[in-house]
Amino acid sequence: MIRKFLSKVFSRKATASESLVKLSIISSKHHGIRRHQITPCALKTALNLQQAGFSAYLVGGAVRDLLLGLVPKDFDVATDATPEEIHRIFRRSRIIGRRFRLVHVMCGAEIVEVSTFRGPSSDDDGPASIQSIDQHGRLLHDNVFGSQEEDAKRRDFTVNALFYDPAKEEILDYLNGYNDIKAKKMRIIGDPVQRFREDPVRLLRAVRLAAKLDMQIDTETAKPIGDLAPLLQNVPPSRLFDEMLKLLLSGHALTCVIELRTRGLHHGLLPMLDVILEQPLGERFITIALKNTDERVRQNKPVSPGFLFAILLWHEVLAYWNSLQASGEKPLPALFKAMDHILSLQHKKLAVPRRFDAVIQEIWAMQPRFEARVGRKPFRLLAHPRFRAAYDFMLLRCESGELSIEFGEWWKAFLSADNSEREKMLAKQTTIKKGRRKRSHKKPSPNSVIASENPIDNSST
Ligand code: ATP
Ligand code: MG
Repeated sequence: MIRKFLSKVFSRKATASESLVKLSIISSKHHGIRRHQITPCALKTALNLQQAGFSAYLVGGAVRDLLLGLVPKDFDVATDATPEEIHRIFRRSRIIGRRFRLVHVMCGAEIVEVSTFRGPSSDDDGPASIQSIDQHGRLLHDNVFGSQEEDAKRRDFTVNALFYDPAKEEILDYLNGYNDIKAKKMRIIGDPVQRFREDPVRLLRAVRLAAKLDMQIDTETAKPIGDLAPLLQNVPPSRLFDEMLKLLLSGHALTCVIELRTRGLHHGLLPMLDVILEQPLGERFITIALKNTDERVRQNKPVSPGFLFAILLWHEVLAYWNSLQASGEKPLPALFKAMDHILSLQHKKLAVPRRFDAVIQEIWAMQPRFEARVGRKPFRLLAHPRFRAAYDFMLLRCESGELSIEFGEWWKAFLSADNSEREKMLAKQTTIKKGRRKRSHKKPSPNSVIASENPIDNSST
């Protein structure tokens, strides 16, 4: 038994990633990262661990971003100290996670995530591994401690596997990630099929990071992506939602969404995207909306996830709403039915948390109210706490051609007018409305709740 175990340990063949391993050390003269670019908390955490006799490095996205001249979102530290040892060194720290235990070190408002080097990430990496995978190859455990080199190899892309030593100011590169960064190549570590199977979220990370970093996905890495897309169905919906939100709030949402569709990854996330993007109106709406969102994110302005999902799902609601009206349902009940239907479908696929439902529904439900430009109705709408989001949403509908431009212009003018001007604008609308009533006895259009005021260009919906 012991002999069998030892022979397995010593005779095992090198895996694809092992055969690539050759440690390169890049000095500060070459890499150009300066210590002042690192937050004091991250610096202090790594240096204190080193002073306590452990090895400790900045790792992952932060090193990558610094090399690319980007400002890192956060700093992670990797060390050979165990979570308990880390916790003992830092008074203000706590161990988090049950399966994958990490330590959060706090300095003021800043939190640095410290993880212990992890070991091999799949069974064929050796008999010492106690990880297990499900029937699709998805890794169920990833919590075995290992060496620094093993920690590099269990990461996703070579560009994410660089270690920065803040004392020596050197970068340790086991997997040629430094050159990949310089060549702007996203290359998965190890066998692409196996690594995507282990964690299908890596498929989405490939798309998001390539867009954010303006990198090409390496050909070998990209090859199996389309075929493996169905594996996203096995990822817990809450994890998919988190990743989707990161993608939408990355400042590159438009590129990411187009790329998801091109690579066939959208089916499990936004299954109607194909249909929506094939209709000129749907395509325009999503393009304009995501461009605006990206602009806001880049200017550090807040973006509400509820608003984003209201956008992404609107044309599904619209199509279903129209079909219900065509089959004789009244506009408002039909809209509410369509909203419930689309939201409940989406909960199953993407686990959009129910806490966002209220915002999404309010934005949608307020849309017909913009059409009621008579009496006190516009004033009541203005006073609604969600008015601004619903108004921005309505303007996007105008910009995309779903509503007439004149309609959005009227509301813009109404908003900037004083009260007496507003009264005049409404009186004018009432006169126009009366005039229309006299001239026409046409049946109301199915798309408009207040048909005589219909601002919707029906021909194009
Ligand atoms: P960003 O923070 O800009 O979204 P990131 O690469 O820093 O990008 P994080 O989620 O912060 O992403 O992860 C930190 C590091 O952990 C990554 O750089 C990578 O080394 C590793 N990592 C994250 N997710 C995975 C994964 N699914 N599989 C393997 N390694 C991962
Ligand atoms: Mg990060």
